[in-house]
Amino acid sequence: QMMLILISKNLLKMSELKQYKMFIDGEWVDSESKKTFKSLNPENNEPWVEVPQASEKDIDIAVNAAQKAFDGSWPNLFPRERAKYLKAIANELRENAELLGKIETIDTGKLFKETKTQANYIAEYYDYYAGLADKVEGTVLPIDKANMQVITTRVPIGVVAAIIPWNSQMLLTAVKLAPALAMGNTIVIKSSELAPATLFEFGKLIEKTGIPKGVVNIVSGFGEPCGRALTSHKLVERVAFTGGPETARHIIRNSADNLSQVSLELGGKSPVAVFEDADQENALNGITAGIFGASGQSCIAGSRLYIQNSIYDNFLEKIVSRANKIKLGPPMDAKTQMGPLNSLKQLEIIEKNIKLTLEQGGKLRCGGKRHTFSNKGYYFPPTIIECDNHNLPTAENELFGPVLSVMKFNDEKEVINKMNDNQYGLSSGVYTKDINRGLRVSNAIRAGITFVNTYRLISPSAPFGGMKDSGYGKEAGIESIKDYTRIKTTWFNTSDKPMDDPFTMG
Ligand code: NAD
Repeated sequence: QMMLILISKNLLKMSELKQYKMFIDGEWVDSESKKTFKSLNPENNEPWVEVPQASEKDIDIAVNAAQKAFDGSWPNLFPRERAKYLKAIANELRENAELLGKIETIDTGKLFKETKTQANYIAEYYDYYAGLADKVEGTVLPIDKANMQVITTRVPIGVVAAIIPWNSQMLLTAVKLAPALAMGNTIVIKSSELAPATLFEFGKLIEKTGIPKGVVNIVSGFGEPCGRALTSHKLVERVAFTGGPETARHIIRNSADNLSQVSLELGGKSPVAVFEDADQENALNGITAGIFGASGQSCIAGSRLYIQNSIYDNFLEKIVSRANKIKLGPPMDAKTQMGPLNSLKQLEIIEKNIKLTLEQGGKLRCGGKRHTFSNKGYYFPPTIIECDNHNLPTAENELFGPVLSVMKFNDEKEVINKMNDNQYGLSSGVYTKDINRGLRVSNAIRAGITFVNTYRLISPSAPFGGMKDSGYGKEAGIESIKDYTRIKTTWFNTSDKPMDDPFTMG
């Protein structure tokens, strides 16, 4: 009898789970093996959705569907025709921002006020690339041969594999999907196993636009075998990856199998400098947005803070007092400023790094221990640690959490060296009223983005991406659309006479 109760309880639990299918070739399908996995709600650590677990076979079906669509009419539509679908996606996003935001919040723990606003704003990216679709031009070359007219055109690449992390997934999908479609490519998108639900809701919106079957496919699964099978598939010509550096190394190895073109948007340990002349209220806001916004789970998190000696004690006091006032709570609550972290694994990595840092002399100024909500979700409070040097673990490693490591500096030269002394180079920040100094520091920092007197902003027209171990390739902005094309050169012989000597290359 006990057994029966257990089974029925489990059945009840299963039936409460929201179910999704994969979107392949315009159909909603289970995985071939019928295998599934569950995603947890980080607020209470309980499974809430169940999604298919794609096998190599499923990936093969999805990639072949994308190839079939590429061989069909999609790349041959007039650019403005393709742009109409992008605009339709933008409109669907605006109309459904609330729903998408809610799903993303439950699945990732990110604040609803941010996920909803983002879903709405991400529509701009589709409009932006819709506008660009018919503005990518070819050239006529000033060629050094008689009777030859030579032109270049930009042609689509083929099937794109987009690998998405769990955070900011609507944005990180848009900067791949929109330029890929605008230029006539087709795509298979793999969601993160840590938060697969939002992309399937997004898939429903894509379906509503009536886009031809197979042009957009969305699959769910783990790195192995799903991610590997997708990024090494022979028919994939382009891999657009966002995630961590370790996974990126796998991606590069996988692409040795299909020789695909790869772009990598990876992590960061972004430095921020506050000079003695900075507007301190503004710097406080920017620093707070940079490391405590999204509970620090942002690839551009400003997690290494350098404060000029003369203002160090006083300014640090202000940041600590600001951090202590941050309101933790349920991510759907409009008053909450920091929700839970996305996963227990992340929380444990953060705890380990903090422990090591304190053992090596770091001084804890606030936070540092799981929040009392933690028995239910993965809550971690704003944490500030003073470090004598930036080689202490919290100051050196990307933590993807609300942990700020603080160091001192004396002058501009010293802080530039310190800011550059890290393997990553994604973002950076400078607070100063001296615009010349702002420019000098920005020029000297080896990072893809520098924010001067501000932080944590995005725009469809602003290229985004890193240097050094933060990866290569830029997303967003005009140039990035070209990364979804190849240059094709066509030679026209304008002479009516036969070719000269066929045995010499002229
Ligand atoms: P992750 O690297 O663990 O996973 C990213 C994706 O890669 C997931 O979909 C995962 O399933 C897939 N994957 C794993 N192994 C694979 C394999 N062998 N082959 C192919 N795919 C595989 O990253 P995450 O934890 O989801 O996200 C956090 C990381 O992403 C952080 O390092 C963060 O800095 C980075 N990030 C970077 C940016 C940026 O634009 N630079 C933006 C957001 C996040």
